[in-house]
Formats: sequence, structure tokens, C-alpha cells
Amino acid sequence: MNVASQRTGWSRLPLRAAAFVVLTCVAILGVSGWREWAARDAVLKGAETEMANVARSLTQHAEDSLDLLDSGVVGVVSRLEMDGTGPITIAKLRTLLEARKKAMERVHSLAIIDDRGNWLTSPGTIASTLSDDAFFRHHQLSPKREAYVGHPVKSLLDGEWVITLSRRFDKPDGSFGGVVLAAIGSRYLSHFYEQFEIGRNSSVSLTYGDGTIVARTPNNEKFVGRNVSDGPLFRDASLQGPSGAYYFKSLLDGAERVSFFKRSGRYPLVLLATVDKEELLAPWRAAALSRMLYVVALVMLIAIIGAVLVRQLQRGQRMAAALVEKEAHFRLLAEGSSDMVTRIGLDERLRYVSPSSSRVVGWRPNQLIGTDALAGIHPEDRPHVQAVVDAMKRGDTDEARLTYRNAHRQKSEVWLESTMRVTRKDNGSVDGVVAISRDITEQKQLETRLETLAIEDSLTGLANRRRFDERLNEEWARAYRDRSSLGLLMIDVDHFKSYNDEYGHPAGDACLRVVAKIIAAETQRVGDLAARYGGEEFAMLLPNTDAAGCARLGERIRSAVRDAGLVHASNPAASCVTVSVGGATCRPAFERTAGTGSLVEAADQALYAAKDAGRDQLVMSGEVTDLLPKASGQ
Ligand code: GH3
Ligand code: MG
Ligand code: MG
Repeated sequence: MNVASQRTGWSRLPLRAAAFVVLTCVAILGVSGWREWAARDAVLKGAETEMANVARSLTQHAEDSLDLLDSGVVGVVSRLEMDGTGPITIAKLRTLLEARKKAMERVHSLAIIDDRGNWLTSPGTIASTLSDDAFFRHHQLSPKREAYVGHPVKSLLDGEWVITLSRRFDKPDGSFGGVVLAAIGSRYLSHFYEQFEIGRNSSVSLTYGDGTIVARTPNNEKFVGRNVSDGPLFRDASLQGPSGAYYFKSLLDGAERVSFFKRSGRYPLVLLATVDKEELLAPWRAAALSRMLYVVALVMLIAIIGAVLVRQLQRGQRMAAALVEKEAHFRLLAEGSSDMVTRIGLDERLRYVSPSSSRVVGWRPNQLIGTDALAGIHPEDRPHVQAVVDAMKRGDTDEARLTYRNAHRQKSEVWLESTMRVTRKDNGSVDGVVAISRDITEQKQLETRLETLAIEDSLTGLANRRRFDERLNEEWARAYRDRSSLGLLMIDVDHFKSYNDEYGHPAGDACLRVVAKIIAAETQRVGDLAARYGGEEFAMLLPNTDAAGCARLGERIRSAVRDAGLVHASNPAASCVTVSVGGATCRPAFERTAGTGSLVEAADQALYAAKDAGRDQLVMSGEVTDLLPKASGQ
């Protein structure tokens, strides 16, 4: 995976996390919802089964009841056909029928009707006790002898709706003799249905094939006789089978219902058992609601925690991106710079080194990272650098600028100037130091050169007059402090003007360089200073030296110059280059003098005395007075 795609993947992380949270929530809600829906289905299926059982058993009951009636009717028909419809027979049968009716609750009425429609079993002969005689007309016209279950009719005696079962009987000649009729009352059926506890808002109804309600519970009186043939049970093609479950909105009370219908196979009757869907589902709904509330609460909790986490992820990512950008800027600066940028950890190891290290110290960054940051520093400079780094690590100082020598891979060493700065964590504690180092070797060399130029005489390489004066003052002060003696020799080349005249100025310069070298060779102690005092005149400063030591050294110089044997034809004394030397010593702590000037003057006078005495000799200041008359005498 390359960096770009890794970065894209990384930037999509919050989106993916959010998608995961959403997916989890949706999944939990989905599964819970699906489970509740399945539970609801199970409730409805259970209700359907229950309704089916009720419908089947009550259809059976209706058929059994009609069968029972029919067996009675068949008996009466055969008696009438055998015995005729004479008054005696009728009277016997009437008693029989009364007894039967009393014995069987479900029988509303039993009657024999003659061929003219007169009700023979009723007291007196009446036309009819029913609202409609359709059954009579049916038998009158049809020769069929089967039982006929007629359209529900209303009894004129007690106003009750009844369902009739009738058969025709024939006269001995085979012509229509009349009808035997039995009826079941709506009330009986309704009471019977009431015994089934199938819910408060449930209903059971028995309907005739043409849609007229025969019996219903509850509210039998209100609904019986109503025609519901425009309802789906009678119209919908899919509901015309022998039995089935179906859901509908009741035409009677507008409630949604779960129902099961069963059509009788033998009689034109349909039994419909229904239960109120709302009532049925109420317990499920209450339980599902409380369960779903828990689920929703859980989902909300997950969503809130998820949102917080996603937010944190986003924030972390923004911070990381900012950090990456910051680091990129830092690298751009560090790596574009000719200075070496390093980052030093608290363990003093290099954490980062910019590429310019190759130029500054000769090692590549990967050779330095992980190594001791102070390892290359010159042993003399290291304690100072270490002390500064320690102070920074402690938090005592935040910034420092240091100059020190450092090892270089190719060159022997380089001078580095480092600007150091502590870096801190968010909580303010120091976590390292950033150092920007540059090579200042050339600058250092220039400085040294300038310093040398300031104190050195360019012709001879000895200390110049300025340096001499400085050192004279320093040594004077030191001698005063130490109560020691300070010696001074003034050395002047004899007849040098004529040397120049004879050999030329460049040869004169060369001669001066040789004399300077001889003088320099005689400086033995560290504190001794040989200087060019001016022109062809030299000076030698001798700290902690008494008159005898001073005279000894002066004499050595004088003889060394002479022994060098530099040809000087016009030097009348020796034909070679000679010098005259004047020496003086002083103990500043014990002698009352006019300072450094008096020492120089004393030496100068001694020098003059030496010149006067004939040159190529040493005169000490103490001898001057003795020599002067002698000199002047010459
Ligand atoms: P004396 O023995 O009395 O010292 O005689 P002298 O000729 O050395 O003294 P004087 O002071 O008269 O002359 C000094 C001469 O030194 C003058 C000058 O030409 C010469 N001189 C001074 N400085 C330099 C120098 O830097 N180079 C050369 N070639 N000659 C110098
Ligand atoms: Mg001279
Ligand atoms: Mg001179």
C-alpha cells in the first residue's frame, strides 16, 4: 500500500466508523423490528387457528341441528303418507310434535301444513305463522322429496327469526299433500354461540347462503335478518371456497377483524367467526412497545457513544494532520537550510539530523541519528557544552548560543556555532533540544589572523610595539604584585643606516629578519617577550629577572649577533653586523619610580651609553653613571 492510499484510508476512518455505528444501530433496530413483527404474525396466526376451530365446530353444530330436525321431519312425513291427514292422525301427531318440541331446546317450531297452506298443528287452522311461505311454494312446485332449508324468516307468533327445514309429503295418489316443517330459532343459536369465550370484541355469525344473518353473537337482535350480501364474503371470488381466513373491516361496526369462514357442505349456511384485531394485538403491542423502548434506548446509547467516538477520531485526525503539516514545514526549513539542524532527545541522543550534516561535520544523517549528540565535541569544549545542555534539560534556560570545536570526518576539526532551544510537550515539560549549527571555522581563522595582525610585526614576526607596550604594563603590574624584579633589554643595530646605504633597503630588511630570529632564539622562559621596538631597534621584556640575569641574556644576544657573522663592511668596529644592548631592571614594589616609562628610559639610556662606549657592547642601567664620563671621555 503506498502512502497516498494509506492516507486516504486513514482519512476515511471516521466515515467508516460512523457507517459502522449506523449499520449496527440499523441492524439492531431491524432485527428487533423483524422479531416483533414475527411475534405479531404469530399472534394473528394463533387467532386464525382459534377462529378456524370455532367456525368448524359451530358449522358442524348447525349441520347436526338441522340433521336432528330432519330426522323428526322424516318420521312425520312417513306417518302422514301412511296414515293420511285425518283429524285423528293430526291430533296424535300434534301431541307428538309438542312433546318433541318441549324435549329439544333447539326446535323453535314443528308444523304440518296441508296442500292449501293451512297449518294443521296449530290450534285452529291458520294460514301461516311465518312472515314468508317461500318454502311452501318451493315444495308445491317441486316434486323433489329432499329436505329443503329455506330462507330465514320471522315467526309471526313471537317475532323471532328462524331457519326452516321442510319436506313435502304426498297423498296416496302421489299428488302434493302438504309440508312438514321444523325451525331452529335464532335466539337458541345465539345463546349457544355465547358460550364460546373468544374475546370481548369478537363475534360469531351464521349467515344464510343469500347473505341474510340467521344468528349472531353478540347483539343478535340488532343484526339478525340483515342482509350482508354486498360484503366480500359473498362477492370476493377468493373467498368463495369452503373455508378460509380473511381480514376485513366490518361493515357493521367499522372495526378491523381477523376472521375465519366455513361454508356448510350440505346446507346453504356460512359460519363466520371474527375477533377484533386491535383487541387481539393489544397485549402484543404493549409488550412490543416496552421491548422496543429498551431497544431504542440501547440504540440511542450506541449512537451517542458512537458519535462521541467518531468526533474524537475526527479531532485526533485533524490534530495528526496538523502535526504532519507542521513537521513537513519543519523539515522543509531544516532540510533547505545550509545550517545543520538537529533534534536531541532527553537521553542526549540525536533524534533528527538535517541533510546538511554531510557538509557541516562530514557524516550523513543516517550515520548520526541515534548516536551521542555530544560525541564529536572537542574534549576541551565538551564540559562547557555539557553544562549548558544539562541546564536546558533541567529547564533552567530555554535558549543558548555556543561556540565549540567539533570533529569532522574529513577535516581534522571544525569550529561550530550552535543556537540551541528547548522543546516542550503540551504539559510544559522539556522533551528535548533543537540545535541549529553552522560551520564558523573560516570566521574563526580570520579572527585569529586579525588578532595576530594586531600584535605581530609583519617584517620580523616578533611582537609589535603595541603588543610590547601592553605586555610591559601587564608585567609591570604583575611584578608589583609579586614583589618581583622586571628586566628590559633594548637592542639597536650598529651603523645600520650605512648598511642600508651599502647593500640596499631590501637587504637591510633581510638583515633585520636575521637579527630578529637570533633575538627570538634567546627567549627561553615562557614569559619572555621579544619585540620590534621600532626601526632597527628591538626590545626584550624579562619578567622575574634580576640585573645579573638581564645582563647575562643581553650579553648572549650581543655575542650571538656578532657570531652570526653577517657582513657589514662599513661597520668600523667589526666589519660584521653588531648590536649594542642597554639593560635595566626594576622592582616596582620597592622602588620609587615613574612607572613603566622610567624602566624604558633607563634601558634606553643604557643603550645610548653602550653606543657611546663604542658599540657592540652591553651596558646595564646601573653602570650608566660610571660609564658616562668614560664614554664622554672617548
Ligand atoms: P647607530 O650605530 O648610532 O645606531 O647608527 P645608525 O645608523 O644605526 O643609527 P641611525 O638612527 O642614524 O639610523 C637608523 C637607520 O636604520 C635609519 C634607517 O635607514 C634604518 N632603518 C630603520 N628602519 C629600517 C627598516 O625597517 N629597514 C631597513 N632596511 N632600514 C631601516
Ligand atoms: Mg642603529
Ligand atoms: Mg636606532
